Amino acid sequence: MLAKISQLGRDFLPADTRRRLKAVVDPLLATVGSVQAAKTATSVVALTFDDGPDATVTPQVLDLLRQAGARATFFILSDHAERLPQIVRDIVAQGHEIGLHGDRHDRLTQFSTSEVRSRLAVAKAAIETISGTRITLFRPPYGAQTLATYIIAKSLGLQTVVWGPYAEDWLDSSPEAAAAKVLGVVRGGEIALFHDGLELDDDAVRPALDRARVVELVLDGFKARGLTADTVSAMIDASGARKTGWFRT
Ligand SMILES: [Zn+2]
Repeated sequence: MLAKISQLGRDFLPADTRRRLKAVVDPLLATVGSVQAAKTATSVVALTFDDGPDATVTPQVLDLLRQAGARATFFILSDHAERLPQIVRDIVAQGHEIGLHGDRHDRLTQFSTSEVRSRLAVAKAAIETISGTRITLFRPPYGAQTLATYIIAKSLGLQTVVWGPYAEDWLDSSPEAAAAKVLGVVRGGEIALFHDGLELDDDAVRPALDRARVVELVLDGFKARGLTADTVSAMIDASGARKTGWFRT
């Protein structure tokens, strides 16, 4: 939407009007924007994993990250965390970051504001207790977000983080093809999306894809390109955050 407005601006508005408009829009975006990338040039890519923890894949991913000397942010679900608390503590102990993905993997945009608030507050508190860390980052399931859910998350001390390149690791492709989807486009400063857990819609077929192998190939590819994988917070603390107005149901 905002991209479309800005395209219209480029097509129809004189340069000085565009500058004045930008001066108005940018501070608004800083208030209601979701973090999508670093603001200034960097060779760091923020590696993010959603829908976990997963009893099989998360430990494999942790081993790969340790071998590569890389760090990542895990956007986890509190119902998974309550079943696998030791894996959550392992993630933290190995220097990675935990963010909130939700309680269960539901689109928040379908609930009343009071239900969104209570779900997020309860899930955040549960994950903080299990992980022993303060949770400040939030990625909504499916990226589904309205201004109302954004503001509720913000009021709970949560900054929404969306994403750039993704491996489509929910599809039944080969690890090489999934890794190539990221490696073909990724640049320093981006936030790449992967899944250690995998919550699928009821009618979706669970792929046989080896998601840990995808991560191994991506980490090798980063190394070959001179890119370093780190947490979202480490990247934006060092290079600032570029935000985008991300609203979709
Ligand atoms: Zn998800």
